[in-house]
Amino acid sequence: MNDSRIRDVVIVGGGTAGWMAAAALSATMGEQLSIRLIESDAIGTVGVGEATIPAIRLFNGLVGIDENAFLRATGGTFKLGIEFAGWGREGESYMHAFGQIGQSLDLIEFWQYWLRGRKEGVAEPLGQYSFNESVAREGRFARVPRIPNTELDGISYAFHFDAGRYARFLREIAEANGVARTEGTIAAVTRNAESGHVGSVSLADGSVISGELFIDCSGFRGLLIEQELATGYDDWTAWLPCDRAVAVPTANAGPPRPYTQSIARQAGWQWRIPLQHRTGNGHVFCSDYLSEDEATRILLDNLEGPPLAEPRTIPFKTGMRRKAWNGNVVALGLASGFLEPLESTSIHLIQNGIAKLISHFPDRGFHPANTAAYNRRVAYDYERIRDFIILHYHLNQRDEPFWRRCREMAIPDTLREKIELFRATGRVFREQEELFVEIGWFQVLTGQNLVPETYHPLADVLSREELTQFLADIRTIVASNAARLPAHGDFIAQTCASPVQPAAAGARS
Ligand code: FAD
Repeated sequence: MNDSRIRDVVIVGGGTAGWMAAAALSATMGEQLSIRLIESDAIGTVGVGEATIPAIRLFNGLVGIDENAFLRATGGTFKLGIEFAGWGREGESYMHAFGQIGQSLDLIEFWQYWLRGRKEGVAEPLGQYSFNESVAREGRFARVPRIPNTELDGISYAFHFDAGRYARFLREIAEANGVARTEGTIAAVTRNAESGHVGSVSLADGSVISGELFIDCSGFRGLLIEQELATGYDDWTAWLPCDRAVAVPTANAGPPRPYTQSIARQAGWQWRIPLQHRTGNGHVFCSDYLSEDEATRILLDNLEGPPLAEPRTIPFKTGMRRKAWNGNVVALGLASGFLEPLESTSIHLIQNGIAKLISHFPDRGFHPANTAAYNRRVAYDYERIRDFIILHYHLNQRDEPFWRRCREMAIPDTLREKIELFRATGRVFREQEELFVEIGWFQVLTGQNLVPETYHPLADVLSREELTQFLADIRTIVASNAARLPAHGDFIAQTCASPVQPAAAGARS
């Protein structure tokens, strides 16, 4: 028995990050740990964050969530990708759809044949070869792991859900696993004079909660990691200048789309996230170019259904904490950094931080090499996702001053090298554990109208007739199988309809 094992874990914050951490740690290490979560009703949560990527299914599996029960509890819908409208030029649209596209052949990816086909005028738009995009554009959905009788992957999906309800759902799981919850506002933090580690937190009512490992999920304020430990923050606004979002829920105007919409606006972009009982809407914008009133007006002018609440503005600063783990404090969620929700990556970064924390789980010695390795890995994840998001802004052909600035700005070397490689060779490679795989990069690079100078030479092995036939076959398989699936709304009604009623005007759910 190792007597330097950590026993007492304190999670500060009960937003998505806090309850995800509580549910995952209690499901995996609950027998060894005593876990306490502190949340403040007076402070509340950020109250946004509704779109995810497919890896969330791994997290839900880890904590033992039944998918249909989760969708019923959170008013959730299925998500097959993100549509980017007007991001290259006004009037254009492309999709970053999840999952593979087409079928690789003779060692090279499908898209190399598509690049050649496009050059020779025998290829249709990329989305017609993507099962996910074809199903999404038709408003359909079913759980299809493979396209029957073919070598082609089926549907890869994530979810849209009500984040507040997700946190409550996770709370039930965590409490059933033995997590203790304390409601109250932390007013003071005490540190060990010798180690500098956080020893306890005191609540406004005078009670004191001590622990060995503290997980800071206190949101943008970073109560422990920043306010107490002054860890520092790397500011990335030079590359991602948007610094505010105005958000408003609306009633649904029709059946829910099985994808997120991201629509470029004059100095930012608008999201639409369809849930079963309402639609989440927001406008991410740059305050150097647009006032809050103008940004709100643009959002309100572009809603599909009536608003259910007053619009509210959320300021943010894009970047990340210099160290996500400092001493005996590990920051997760908004306390660790912020990347705008363009590719729905924040909840994923929470999940990723939790998974890495479990794999680097410390003892009371808090070996600095372990902490440093965790920080390196988390920073790598943040930086690569940051690059992917910058890519959308940088490769635009729009006319407004904000977009010109994004086009002309210097970008990180890591991204510049990736763009140059693609421009010259049509190749893109996933490096180390970076989140977005090649086909994701490819969809955005081509969707933003970057046409590479060439493609892989092996794509020339097929004759022109063979190439034409190969592309046509994939397209036919994709289209015919997509057309067979039920409407997204019907699938939800049959499998996971939520009892959650549409919110009344003025309410926030
Ligand atoms: P919060 O929700 O802010 O929770 C902080 C918790 O700490 C609360 O419980 C609070 O009460 C507690 N707390 C704070 N101070 C104290 C104190 N002194 N004492 C006690 N308790 C305290 N992510 C996605 O993955 N997809 C999206 O589509 C998406 N959209 C977003 C849109 C916008 C505009 C923004 C700003 C974020 C978006 N995100 C999205 C990010 C997502 O909202 C967050 O990652 C997620 O909600 C996690 O938040 P959190 O738990 O870190 O912080």
